[in-house]
Amino acid sequence: MSPGRLRTIPDLGDLAGRRVLVRCDFNVPLEDGRITDDLRITATTPTLVELLGRGANLVLCSHLGRPKGQVVERYRLDPVAHRLAGTLGREVTKLDRVVGSEVEAAVRQVPPGSVVLLENLRFEPGEEANDPAFADSLARLAQAYVDDAFGAAHRAHASVVGVAERLPSAAGLLMQREIEALSSLVDGARRPFVAILGGAKVSDKLDAIKALVDRVDALLIGGAMAFTFLAAAGGAVGRSLVEPDRFDEVREAATRAQEKGVLVQLPEDVVAAREPTLDARRETVRADAIPAGLMGLDVGPRTVEEFAQVIAEAGTIFWNGPMGMFELEPFSAGTRRVAYAVAGSNAFSVVGGGDSLAALRKFDLLDQVDHVSTGGGASLEFLEGRELPGVAVLMEEA
Ligand code: AMP
Repeated sequence: MSPGRLRTIPDLGDLAGRRVLVRCDFNVPLEDGRITDDLRITATTPTLVELLGRGANLVLCSHLGRPKGQVVERYRLDPVAHRLAGTLGREVTKLDRVVGSEVEAAVRQVPPGSVVLLENLRFEPGEEANDPAFADSLARLAQAYVDDAFGAAHRAHASVVGVAERLPSAAGLLMQREIEALSSLVDGARRPFVAILGGAKVSDKLDAIKALVDRVDALLIGGAMAFTFLAAAGGAVGRSLVEPDRFDEVREAATRAQEKGVLVQLPEDVVAAREPTLDARRETVRADAIPAGLMGLDVGPRTVEEFAQVIAEAGTIFWNGPMGMFELEPFSAGTRRVAYAVAGSNAFSVVGGGDSLAALRKFDLLDQVDHVSTGGGASLEFLEGRELPGVAVLMEEA
């Protein structure tokens, strides 16, 4: 991370009667236009309440999905405005555009203490391109800027970096909490430090694995990504998901871990089936001897017991990614057991990534961990020791 101190809301001085542009991460999961998980909305509410308490007028902005620089009806932020109004207990004026003279007029007209939500930032091509003209247009909407979108901090986009360079800027409370929690994993984590990684693709998490090997005492690997490790070591993984082009890299990571004395625990047994369906016939088989017609869809009972033992002794835990295809009940036991083990441990526990959070919520364990990171990709990059552009721009030079 950059040297220096993170600027926070008090650094912005008196905000009474001032318009503050707040970059939120309202990238919530939607099904048929309904929000299925509002964690990202509730997580940023304390920042909004704090700013309103200081007398600011709020102009909120966020991305949702990947509309790629054009208007996509299903990614409009109206459902977010609706839910936010309920959470805040006050009216939220939702605009149908992101920037422009109409938006400028609208944000100037609203009464003191109001909350305006701009349309989806990614409807504008200038957002992801960090286009200076687009950043100028955003900056014209307010007199100060607060970034609470940790989940977007690894992106050098206009609403993350460009606008922070143009206005007095500071981190919101959620951003601050995320950075504090993740920093304590990087500096002086209580040992043993156990990282649990799962999910579909090893390629998404290889950089994190390489970096974690230098930081942790144990790496527990589940989910489909374990099969690339198992296959690279010569195991038979049947029709399980594998990424053969990553064999060399995972072998290197495993060797490095061994040299450093880091325990890398792969599944011993898995729950396998012909297809990932609700009524599939399941078999528990050895993870490195999966019959040709079957695919591994969850970690098996012996594996979860071993994982749970390592988790029980941890001083610090970082968990990202489900242990199996947990969305389907027959393949959810491994993720559930790991979620309970993490929740029940005395370790300082940080959980990141949309699917791990969905799992914690599904098993009603969200409030049993120390920190729930709203940014999956950003939290992995932070742990890799990479500088996040959205954080760097909020640091005061030392
Ligand atoms: P990721 O986005 O890489 O964290 O992957 C999350 C997805 O991985 C979830 O939707 C899981 O259903 C899926 N997943 C986890 N384990 C497996 C597995 N053994 N086979 C197929 N998909 C899996």
